[in-house]
Amino acid sequence: MSRSVLVTGGNRGIGLAIARAFAEQGDKVAITHRGSGAPEGLFGVQCDVTDAAQVDRAFSEVEAQHGPVEVLVSNAGIVDDVLLLRMSEESFTKVVDANLTGAYRVAKRAASGMLKKRWGRMIFISSVVGLSGQAGQVNYAASKAGLVGVARSIARELGSRNITANVISPGFIETDMTAHLAESLKEQLVTVPARRAGKTEEVAAAVTWLASDGASYVNGAVLPVDGGMGMGH
Ligand code: NDP
Repeated sequence: MSRSVLVTGGNRGIGLAIARAFAEQGDKVAITHRGSGAPEGLFGVQCDVTDAAQVDRAFSEVEAQHGPVEVLVSNAGIVDDVLLLRMSEESFTKVVDANLTGAYRVAKRAASGMLKKRWGRMIFISSVVGLSGQAGQVNYAASKAGLVGVARSIARELGSRNITANVISPGFIETDMTAHLAESLKEQLVTVPARRAGKTEEVAAAVTWLASDGASYVNGAVLPVDGGMGMGH
């Protein structure tokens, strides 16, 4: 079955691995980018998720190319790490706007098509720190914790129409986002049971499973892909 899949921030990092995994299994995959263009073999639409008009336009372009979005992966996200006492309100709001309000914008835009079809999968890429917290990440952790409330509320609203909304909580994954992290944070990997960073493909495998028929009775779940980093939450 070839479904219309949209991955926000699918031009690089975890999002790109997710997009490639769906494409490999034969789905029609679209990704959003903010000007980089689409990676080879993928259909790209320009979209900044902080702008509802851009979100609407991007979905319209995907609908024209592939039909209504049946699988939405809300992956786009940013960090702006700074300790609380020095964190400006602008920094807090910027991160929440991209990571949390952005997810609300794309989920809302996707929901009507899924309701008409009476089938849909929404997968939100959160983070292990959404539940554990992390020094220097009050803004980021708040945005990622918020995604759990978003997904579980959608699960309750739309679950009777064959629409599921689940959350993936990656741990430390090797991408551009973590390449800039302080050595002290990277050293925390020795406390992770897996004793290594995760690969983008390992996150992608969990996402494609959540979108599969095999996961049709999994709704409102938070699935860690973290090598055991967050156990206990
Ligand atoms: P990257 O920094 O490598 O990529 C981030 C992606 O998000 C890029 O495609 C970027 O687009 C896009 N993006 C950022 N802001 C916006 C915006 N306002 N509108 C549209 N797109 C936007 O990050 P990762 O691949 O590492 O992370 C992907 C997701 O996984 C994020 O939500 C992140 O929080 C989460 N995550 C990552 C972990 C890790 O260890 N790497 C751990 C836990 C969660 P552009 O190319 O235009 O900048």
